[in-house]
Parts: sequence; C-alpha cells; structure tokens
Amino acid sequence: MATIIDGKALAQKIRSNLKIECDELKSRGILPKLAVILVGNDSASKIYVRNKNRACEEVGIEFEEYILNSDITQDELINLINSLNSKKDVHGILLQSPIPNHLDINQAFRTIAPDKDVDGFNPLNVGKLTLGQDTFVSCTPYGVIKMFEEYNIDLSGKNLTIIGRSNIVGKPLIQCCLNKNATVTICHSKTKDLKEHTKNADIVICAIGKAKFITEDMIKEGAVIIDVGINRTEEGKLVGDVDFQNVEKKASYITPVPGGVGPMTITMLMNNVIKAAKQLNM
Ligand code: NDP
Repeated sequence: MATIIDGKALAQKIRSNLKIECDELKSRGILPKLAVILVGNDSASKIYVRNKNRACEEVGIEFEEYILNSDITQDELINLINSLNSKKDVHGILLQSPIPNHLDINQAFRTIAPDKDVDGFNPLNVGKLTLGQDTFVSCTPYGVIKMFEEYNIDLSGKNLTIIGRSNIVGKPLIQCCLNKNATVTICHSKTKDLKEHTKNADIVICAIGKAKFITEDMIKEGAVIIDVGINRTEEGKLVGDVDFQNVEKKASYITPVPGGVGPMTITMLMNNVIKAAKQLNM
C-alpha cells in the first residue's frame, strides 16, 4: 500500500511558516499585497479567486481584487497591469485565466512586471527557469517539487514521465524535474504507446484532466504517482486523473485528490508573494 502524500498537511505547514515571514515583513512596515485581475463572469474562476483571497487572509497577505467586465478592451487591460506594475504597495500581480477570447493573454502576461509575476508566466521568468536561474516558478509545478522534497523523494537519475504539456503545468514541470536531475519524458495526446512510457517510469506525474486515466496496469511496482488532474464525476465528486483505489495498491507514494496537489498550488502562490515582497524591498 502506498504512502499518501498529504498535500493538505504540507500546505498548512508551509502557510504557518509563511505567516511568520509575513509578520516579520509587517514589523518592518512592509505589507505584502497581491493584486488579482478577474475578467468576466466565469464561475470556476470566481471560486479560484475566492480561495486565493482566503489563503491570503490566512497568511496575512493583503488582497486586492480587480473585477473587469468581459467586454473590456486589450488597452484597458494592459493599462491596468501597467498601473499595478508601478504601484509600490503591490508586490504580486495575478491575471486569472481564462480571459475572454478577444483579449491577448500572452501580451497581458508579458506586461506583468517580472519582479511581480507571482504566477511565473512572464516569458522572462519562464526563460530563467529554463536556464536554471532563480525565478518565480509557476505554482503547481513548484508545489509538486515541494512534495518531493518533504517526502525525501530523490529525483536524481530517476525515470520520470509527465503526461500533459500545458504551459502552466506540464512544460514548467519538465524544467523543475530536470533541475533535480531526473531523466524526463513528456507525453501528450499525440504520444504513441503511452503505457510504455508510464510502465518504465519510477515517477509518473499526470496532468491531463481525465478521470481514472492512469490505471494500475500502466505503472510499475513501487512507482511514485503524482496526480495533478481535477475532474468532477457525474455524481459531483472531485477526482484526479488516477484510478486511486487500484493504483494505491501498487505505488510506493501517491497524492490524493482532493487534498494533494491542489492545496499546494495556492500555497506556492502565497510563497511567491512573500518572496516578491522581500525582493522588492531589499
Ligand atoms: P490543458 O487542458 O491545458 O492540457 C492538458 C494536456 O493533457 C495537454 O497537453 C494534452 O495534450 C494532454 N492530454 C489530453 N488528453 C490526453 C490523452 N488522452 N493522453 C495524453 N495526453 C493527453 O490542462 P492543464 O494543464 O491546465 O490541466 C490539466 C489538469 O490539471 C486539469 O484537470 C486541471 O484541472 C488540473 N489542474 C490542477 C491544478 C491543481 O492545482 N491541482 C492546477 C492546474 C491544473 P495535447 O497538448 O497534445 O493537447
């Protein structure tokens, strides 16, 4: 039976430490602040933003929300980002995605000042990650790396297979795991014989958004399984991409959904805001 990687408990532990750091900054007159931009009426996005607000409250980070109508122009969005870039009391800027199709999200991410880019989506920060330089690492991959560290799972020399190549999860994960000396394989919807890549892996990270995609016959005995996926069943239950009940019996470590990668993602956002506040006040 696998050891469950308890993302909720680890997130709690990291948040408690962040609160101490936040209090220390406040005692020096620095009030760490995150500005979140939400465009339009997407109900899932509203929930994500609410959760980020709660996490900020828990750590003691100030939270400022900018809710924009879905018909705003690109110029209006860019002007808002530029004004937040120049505000001395704002340390982190986050643009909640998705945004309406008529807007250019890439230009928006490019506009966020690299030293306030707490999501790590500005191409400059993506490039720094690729070069192995200190930067803001996007929150989900960073959370996964923290889990490996907490559970002493050494990636060095391990065969590690990532499934999913999105800009926010799969691609930055490649670099994070490579920086830890893993031998990385990346799979996607065009991969042929995906099972061959998962069967040979010491560690499998799945981030595609398909319930029960990873079954026990796809992994090797004792593999470490990280489940990034979030799916809702017809009964409304939250599940990951892994057939947890069966895979758990064969894996050495496994993350649950909920209570795995999810809580770590928001926590690493908090971590990045504190880091930004410190760096901007050095
Ligand atoms: P995207 O939809 O942007 O990307 C999905 C990726 O999965 C794509 O690269 C796609 O391949 C690949 N894929 C889809 N179907 C298959 C398949 N049958 N076989 C192999 N690869 C496949 O998703 P995200 O990266 O944004 O999110 C992935 C999942 O992770 C979602 O469930 C999301 O909700 C969850 N998530 C969870 C977070 C957390 O905090 N726990 C944070 C962010 C996301 P291709 O590129 O070829 O199309």
